[in-house]
Amino acid sequence: MTVAPCTCGEPHPHRVASRRSASGTIVELWSDGPITGALGIGLRGVPISRPKTTRAGERNLRAGWLFLGEVELFEDGELRGLYAACRWAAERDGLPATVRTRLADLAKPSLRPTWHVLHVDRDGRPTCRFWVLPRLGWPDLAIWHERGRYDLMRRMKAVRLPGAGVVSDSTYEPTGFSWGSLREAIAHLIETNAMKGERNQ
Ligand SMILES: [Zn+2]
Repeated sequence: MTVAPCTCGEPHPHRVASRRSASGTIVELWSDGPITGALGIGLRGVPISRPKTTRAGERNLRAGWLFLGEVELFEDGELRGLYAACRWAAERDGLPATVRTRLADLAKPSLRPTWHVLHVDRDGRPTCRFWVLPRLGWPDLAIWHERGRYDLMRRMKAVRLPGAGVVSDSTYEPTGFSWGSLREAIAHLIETNAMKGERNQ
């Protein structure tokens, strides 16, 4: 037991509240903190965390209540971001307004792309272009945009051969991250950068 026993007196973990997401998916909060879907099965993008300390357990439960308070307005695809914002708020003042402020901040595209166009179609629209991300925050990363996908690429070390000098000084390889819209890509970049900042604190 990592969290103080539930106020109802039941010593074993049990569901304390249930809601539905905007998509209609059942969302349940457990007395020891985790958020799950129906029957205790995990929701996509929402980690089932069972903290080891009482303090972390309380924060977990607070994040859970914040999540339940907002979840009815969120589609299933948005639950990951909502949960991250609830964790963020739970580690601060624990207020619903802080969750909403955090979500609004993350949605704000404060990153502006600078595209290098490689190919255009007959109408002059770019069909292949890339954007080298700001070194401060996203070193050695670039977004490659082609056929409607935005792929996050990582710059590899320059390729040098003995006697041949530098063969290639900017080789990029896919990281596996890929999005269907620039907005999603930027939201992810800002979010991961924000999390990195928290880890360093
Ligand atoms: Zn209870």
